[in-house]
Amino acid sequence: MIKLHDKYFSPFISETEIQTAVQRMAHEISEDFKDSVPVFVGVLNGAFMFASDLIRAYPYECEVSFVKLSSYHGLSSTGIVETLLDVSIDLEGRSVVILEDIADTGKTIETLVGMFSEMNVKQFKIAAMFYKKEAYEGEYNIDYVGMEIPDKFIIGYGLDYNELGRNLPKVYQLKENNMTNLVL
Ligand code: 5GP
Repeated sequence: MIKLHDKYFSPFISETEIQTAVQRMAHEISEDFKDSVPVFVGVLNGAFMFASDLIRAYPYECEVSFVKLSSYHGLSSTGIVETLLDVSIDLEGRSVVILEDIADTGKTIETLVGMFSEMNVKQFKIAAMFYKKEAYEGEYNIDYVGMEIPDKFIIGYGLDYNELGRNLPKVYQLKENNMTNLVL
């Protein structure tokens, strides 16, 4: 168990499980993008570790860019997605794969789909390392999913609790008894 700020977290997903899922996703994506050089667009900050691992596991040529969005404060999604940094590559006519750390309500994905559908991209897919199926309200079906997880707050592998925990190589889940005193 670890403590970040005022909350306790228990180990939830091991490094091995994460890396196995990342390798599988890289393989799935490479099968679908054999005939093009895709542009991977990582969603900062949360996806920096996932993007780094997935791109290293990608066996063919690719390009890399980032977009910075934010919808989370503390333990819950605000539902308001702000664009803080835009993709630096011209995506017109390109095959784009968005790398998202976690799909929760789906608001971030909805914003990304809106952004990229206006850019005349050739092909557009979304890969999410973690997917909270029960919480997901989006219409877009995620193309590549690392792991389905319950609707509980997690940290590690790029994901933070008030900026702490992003560097942890495995994933931890908020301990239930924290919730009784939770003030949102
Ligand atoms: P959505 O827009 O789908 O509600 O939320 C997506 C964003 O919220 C993610 O990119 C991530 O930054 C953040 N998020 C969603 N669920 C969690 C979680 O369990 N833990 C953390 N640390 N961030 C989360």
